[in-house]
Amino acid sequence: MTVVEAPTLIAPHGGRLVDRSGPRPDGFERLEQIQLTSRELSDLDMLASGALSPLEGFMGRNDYERVVEEMRLERGLLWALPVCLAVDRPPHGDDVALTDETGRPLAVLEVDEVFEYDKEREAERCFRTTDAAHPGVARLYDQKPFYLSGRVTVFERIDPPFPELALDPLDTRRAFDERGWQRVVGFQTRNPIHRAHEYLTKGALETVDGLLIHPLVGDTKSDDVPAATRVECYQVLVDNYYPADRVLVSAFPAAMRYAGPREAIWHAICRKNYGCSHFIVGRDHAGVGDYYGTYEAQLIFDEFEPHELDIEPMFFEHAFFCRVCGQMATPKTCPHGGDDHVFLSGTKVRELLAAGELPPAEFSRPEVAEVLISAYRS
Ligand SMILES: [Zn+2]
Repeated sequence: MTVVEAPTLIAPHGGRLVDRSGPRPDGFERLEQIQLTSRELSDLDMLASGALSPLEGFMGRNDYERVVEEMRLERGLLWALPVCLAVDRPPHGDDVALTDETGRPLAVLEVDEVFEYDKEREAERCFRTTDAAHPGVARLYDQKPFYLSGRVTVFERIDPPFPELALDPLDTRRAFDERGWQRVVGFQTRNPIHRAHEYLTKGALETVDGLLIHPLVGDTKSDDVPAATRVECYQVLVDNYYPADRVLVSAFPAAMRYAGPREAIWHAICRKNYGCSHFIVGRDHAGVGDYYGTYEAQLIFDEFEPHELDIEPMFFEHAFFCRVCGQMATPKTCPHGGDDHVFLSGTKVRELLAAGELPPAEFSRPEVAEVLISAYRS
């Protein structure tokens, strides 16, 4: 008899999937309450689900310092961005209650340390700029002056914006297992998927077992396309153009930091926790404006040994439809010039959609464009 071993998924970062959900403790009502910002709430939810494994709470000073300076936790494990909770002053008790913006209690934090931090240094190191016009830096500058660290126990999860797409790392891992996927590529997006992204994801899917389309649904800049519209775009695209047994769409609850290269690493580590063995990194991943060079978010992966990250980045160029090739291509695969390429600027696309006109089929699937046009109308 032959024993066929079940396929095994990639191990979580640090080896073990953290679970920081738990029951509401007795005497909870008497605790000092701390209200979290939307970014901190996203982080809290990801701590609860293990999406930020191996973190078990908001970072202490030693982890914070080493992450800011060297992109490593105190114990040496690769980690790209601070996950910190900012407060006005040191709390009184040993435990504090964490609440959402309406004061609803969600979690308890076992107070470990309270420390001051240097906002400009964090900006310079993590965002590569101290410019307050950068949305991530602006948010950092708005923060309260101390960081409060400690392990969290989350007894009430925030309401997911898209309940049908809310899958924790344990759920996506189970879904991959059930489908028999071992090698899974994750695709991070905060924009509607046009033909170019479809081409990248399908190109990646050709070499692995499954594709996780993992749109970020936490806080973004207000001029990004609303998450509800984007989610509808992904659904019509997947329903019409992807094989149902090879793709999973699920929401990534993180808030955008716009930290470019560092956030690319951070996004990859999170997707490893969700069970992805591969991760698509496009040009200017998680960038904003012109703060980062085109390839910085790809080159930063060279600063680490592949085994340190384990999840394998897949680097892609911008794609386009080439009329001579008669297909989607990139500068890596097409020798023809720009005149042969169907290219529309973001501004041009928005103009067409606002006027109720479909962009060329070489640029957008009509089903996706229709969703965007009706979103513009309302
Ligand atoms: Zn061509």
